Amino acid sequence: MKTIELTSKVIEYQREELPEDLADLLAQAQVAAKKAYSPYSRFQVGAAILLNNGVVVTGSNQENAVYPCGLCAERTTAFSASAQYPEVPFSKIAITAINPDEPLSIPVSPCGSCRQVLFEYEQKFNQPIEVILSGQTGPIYVFHCVGDLLPYTFHAGFLP
Ligand SMILES: [Zn+2]
Repeated sequence: MKTIELTSKVIEYQREELPEDLADLLAQAQVAAKKAYSPYSRFQVGAAILLNNGVVVTGSNQENAVYPCGLCAERTTAFSASAQYPEVPFSKIAITAINPDEPLSIPVSPCGSCRQVLFEYEQKFNQPIEVILSGQTGPIYVFHCVGDLLPYTFHAGFLP
């Protein structure tokens, strides 16, 4: 028997330290968050994906009275990007959120399903997708790739 220890590297930036290209993408995610359809949770999430061709696709969470029918901002954005530009790899994704009750002071984190979906596109193009996570205040986390957020992931290699 042996124990396998996992480590994950994340770069923590203070807001004023964030490189300009990442700050620009995050700003677009912040605009997208304000377009969320979230009458039930009132929690607004925005995402912005920079594609290899320079195009930025944005999206927000879309809720529904039948709760499971809704979809997170990250998947809304990833599916939109892939539907519009099926052959263009994702370079980066910025994700942020607005809590209506008190400003979110920690970086918002994508749910497991969204991590799985983003990982699929990372595998499809064999290219890391840099992940920028932010709240409304406080530090910003930057991960080198989606795989760092989802170790031991199920992937196409398991399928026959
Ligand atoms: Zn999600």
